[in-house]
Amino acid sequence: MNAKELFMNGEFIPSERGVLPVRTHAFAYGTSCFEGIRGYWNAQEQQVYLFRAREHFERLLRSCQILQMSLPYTADQLVELSVELIRRNEQHQDVYLRPVAYKNQEILGVQLHGLTNDLIITSEPQGNYVELTGMKCGVSSWRRVDDNAIPARAKISGAYVNSAFAKSEALQNGYDEAIMLTNEGHVSEGSAENIFLVLNGELITPSPSENILLGITRATVIELARRELGLITSERQIDRTELYVADEIILCGTGAQIAPVIEVDHRAIGTGKTGPISSALQKIYFDVVRGNLPAYRDQWCTPAFAKQRSANPAD
Ligand code: PMP
Repeated sequence: MNAKELFMNGEFIPSERGVLPVRTHAFAYGTSCFEGIRGYWNAQEQQVYLFRAREHFERLLRSCQILQMSLPYTADQLVELSVELIRRNEQHQDVYLRPVAYKNQEILGVQLHGLTNDLIITSEPQGNYVELTGMKCGVSSWRRVDDNAIPARAKISGAYVNSAFAKSEALQNGYDEAIMLTNEGHVSEGSAENIFLVLNGELITPSPSENILLGITRATVIELARRELGLITSERQIDRTELYVADEIILCGTGAQIAPVIEVDHRAIGTGKTGPISSALQKIYFDVVRGNLPAYRDQWCTPAFAKQRSANPAD
């Protein structure tokens, strides 16, 4: 069921009024950018924690900059609007926030400049997006869009046609997810996830210039691996066949969370089961996002509801 309200045209409105005119530029040409932000329900604290919402909105503003759009909000104001939306919807549960900045002008003709735009934010209940107990992946025959075609560092709606080609091909071939290569044939990312390999005890991930979206979860994994597991991540070019000989592989993203990969192109990865580094990272990640680790909660989690008064006066 849809949430009661959404944010559009600068105001909170009933969800059923959230409709777009058929001539909307973004609808015809994919000229919008978006974010996916999770809010995690913490039952003990009766709280929804938005995970790294500020960083997501900073990325949205960077995507807007690339698409020649400007929003009349700062990242902090966008976090505030999101918090208010969850409160208005009385969502005491896991949620998924979807802010979309889009060219709303009703004109024909492809261009970026000189068009008006608007911002929509929706918030819906959401569970897991992909299997978390071991994914089987196929290297896609579709190549990742290049920075000079549709820049992957911006989360541009039109670029998701590229992801959809790869994802459908993977599913229709019996895999759970696609791994996409760059035009040069190096490992880039999943259809909506960044990728990490454990190879010879080292954690590696494609560098920013491999046409990846610079994921917030990617940054989180790099930081958690360093602080909690003492593992430094190398950001470098990765060959396709390094996937086959990796000890462990994980896909990660806001939607996917931390998803271990147990097979690529019909080759078992490591033991063919979730490896020790993947499961350690998965466990830490879920503790962090639900706000169970105070050091990270203060750093990364925004409470949506007013804080409960503590039963312990010393708290
Ligand atoms: N790559 C792509 C193409 C994505 O769509 C996503 C999901 N937003 C990611 C990577 C992971 O990014 P994040 O961790 O910021 O959600």
